[in-house]
Amino acid sequence: MGIKDIQRLEKIRELNSENPNWVNHDLYRFLFKDTMYAIAYETLKSNAGNMTAGSDGSTIDGFSAGSITKLINSMKDESFQFAPARRVEIPKANGKKRQLGIAPPRDKIVQEIIKIILEAIYEPTFSDKSHGFRSGRGCHTALKAFRLNWSGVNWIIEGDIKGFFDNISHNILIEKLRERIADERFLNLIRKALNAGYLEYGRLKNTIIGTPQGSVVSPILANIYLDGFDKFVENVISETEVGTIKKIHPEKNRLSRKYLKLHKKAAATEDLVEKAGLTAQAAIAKKESALAPMILNDGSYVRMKYIRYADDWIIGINGPRVLAEDIRQKCADYLSDVLDLELSFEKTHIRHAKTETAKFLGTDLRIGNTGEGKKANFTSKNGIKYQKSVTGWTPYMKAPIGNLVRNLANKGFCDLDGNPLSKASWSLLDDIQIVDLFGSIWRGLHNYYSFVDNRSNMNRIQFILLHSAAKTLADKHRSSVRKMFKKHGKWLEIKVYNSESKVIRTLNFPYEKSLNRNPKDFKVNNDLANGGGKMNFYIRLRTRSKLFSPCCICGETENIEMHHVKHIRKIGEKVKGFTLVMARLNRKQIPVCRECHNKIHSGKYDGLKLNQFILPNVARA
Ligand SMILES: [Zn+2]
Ligand SMILES: [Zn+2]
Repeated sequence: MGIKDIQRLEKIRELNSENPNWVNHDLYRFLFKDTMYAIAYETLKSNAGNMTAGSDGSTIDGFSAGSITKLINSMKDESFQFAPARRVEIPKANGKKRQLGIAPPRDKIVQEIIKIILEAIYEPTFSDKSHGFRSGRGCHTALKAFRLNWSGVNWIIEGDIKGFFDNISHNILIEKLRERIADERFLNLIRKALNAGYLEYGRLKNTIIGTPQGSVVSPILANIYLDGFDKFVENVISETEVGTIKKIHPEKNRLSRKYLKLHKKAAATEDLVEKAGLTAQAAIAKKESALAPMILNDGSYVRMKYIRYADDWIIGINGPRVLAEDIRQKCADYLSDVLDLELSFEKTHIRHAKTETAKFLGTDLRIGNTGEGKKANFTSKNGIKYQKSVTGWTPYMKAPIGNLVRNLANKGFCDLDGNPLSKASWSLLDDIQIVDLFGSIWRGLHNYYSFVDNRSNMNRIQFILLHSAAKTLADKHRSSVRKMFKKHGKWLEIKVYNSESKVIRTLNFPYEKSLNRNPKDFKVNNDLANGGGKMNFYIRLRTRSKLFSPCCICGETENIEMHHVKHIRKIGEKVKGFTLVMARLNRKQIPVCRECHNKIHSGKYDGLKLNQFILPNVARA
């Protein structure tokens, strides 16, 4: 049992890498392999969301080899049905509601297996311009591509597809899948997932930054759907890019000729006063020439860039504006003719890269001056002195501080002017939990915006969160912010004492003293790149899986289930009962037999000692 299925998966990956038109057969059989379920379970088990009951009320607690057998049987006779996604309404910033589907864990495990199979087929041939929800890629690889390659761009098209996830055509998607997959049972299973609503409700946004997050199978289906668009844009790029050398702007030529002429003349002049005058004029001409546009945008030299993350995409154009308009129209035509999607013209702005801001993945993009460049002094015709920057154009990336403050205000951390407020709903928590929660929000934001050029402005966000934390503590203890800082220090260090007044834990707000600009600080992780790396990862997951281990408490080998710690503890709840045993083991899941599992849940094993476990190492491993 095991490694053969993973090797077959790897073979599929190879065949599809070698031939992008490879047609894959006999995929549904993977759904009969317990290895696949073990890998899917191991991937999903630590996600706190999976302890949230799905539409059928079930959680991942109690998942077992028996559950796998049942699932496999329902796959064999094709009786398996996804429970319809439980639709939860999530309030949006604009006051409207967004619907979100929550699937039962059993269905997520099946979705995960579908995803693993689709990845083996499609990952090798996905465009390298596509960054969303792929191994070794993410928001930061997308933003890094902008930083590294977009300096020559003068127009940015900000792509917006109307209600993308709601408007994907199931039929077009299935037809697309059918080009590479000749296995109707497997396609039927995907159709069942679509009918259960996992695609429409697959989209969730990080509420503060605004980047897309997906559910299990919806992101890869979205990537498959838009893969054609990637290839289409790449085609447009190769058809549109012309010229091998940029044409120098005539104004630039004129000014540099003027400079050379003056410079020569000055060198040849012997009269010192006249020489100084000419030298000064030459210097002005040189500066003016440096500032003049370098490239003539007459369409004889065109370069294009493209980056996509889920349904967010941008196209950069080094060329005239009419070309940008033409390309936007071509994209709109492709989307409507081939993918039955509508490009929103009101939202698909064409931004002048040097004077306007384009928005992408929660970041403001511009081609501009980084602010560290040199300033040069100029004198205008009427004798007024002024300063202008003479550095080259380069991608400039900003955290949208105003938007972030507004989003923090929406969540009750501050008012709309950014004055910190007490987060009332958190004032019931322990001090340490309060500081921990504030800290994790701040850590998330400053890690996300690690590369921005306005990094020092993130201090405003840090200030809001630190002071909102202090206000929340002050509220809780009916005290003042000043007293809280006096008591806990300027970074709110919270100490937890045991009964003998010894400090057992300390935690403080993760204050960043120096928010220095670090434009190359992208969090890019290549650990799970495709190919052998992924295969070894699956083998590791399979080997580590305890789904097929004996009961660690009594040693029984039949009817083994996984007991999970309920991750989301109620606010302020103390660790007790069997959860305390789990905490001592430092484990979130352990394999137990059904009998022991029942005893755990009825409280009969509360306070069990580790030396009473028959197989403590199985629990700990
Ligand atoms: Zn047992
Ligand atoms: Zn349990």
